[in-house]
Amino acid sequence: MSVQFFTRNINHSLYRRALSRMLHEMFPARMDYVFYLRHWDWKFYPSTDAPNDPHFDGQEGVGGVTGMGIVKIYLEDKRTNMIHDIFRRVFRQNIIVMSHELAHSALIHIKKTHKVKLRHDDWSGHKAGTTLNFSVAEVHDRHVEGRFKFLRPFRFFDIRTMTVISVSRIQVIDIDDLI
Ligand SMILES: [Zn+2]
Repeated sequence: MSVQFFTRNINHSLYRRALSRMLHEMFPARMDYVFYLRHWDWKFYPSTDAPNDPHFDGQEGVGGVTGMGIVKIYLEDKRTNMIHDIFRRVFRQNIIVMSHELAHSALIHIKKTHKVKLRHDDWSGHKAGTTLNFSVAEVHDRHVEGRFKFLRPFRFFDIRTMTVISVSRIQVIDIDDLI
């Protein structure tokens, strides 16, 4: 898995650590985890770049686009440390966006892409009852239904400030029962 950052401010070590923690918790089977790493690349952009992405219709905002083997993620590009984002609001919001795209990619990865009907109107403008791939519909429905879980707390080392920062009470979309 290559992870590339086109952002200016977010802590690379923190976001790499968060991504690998999410992957470890999502794929308890070592084999699935290794196969995911082999087949998927992640690219991080600031949300101000979103208007250049055709999927965003010229709008600026946080979100992501998951295709075959690639996840592009647009985040609020703000540092997390003892001065910036002290209460981790930005980080928490960015993690939800990452877990949303990670859930899409994980379901594509395990080939759960059969057609199903969406249960709720979603935030991409799809109406309840629309037929979509399971990998899309189930994640959007769970997001609307608020089906989240807490990640185990973790620490990261911030090379720029040479400090260790702990994060806890971080929520992600829960698709554990599907993996
Ligand atoms: Zn989505």
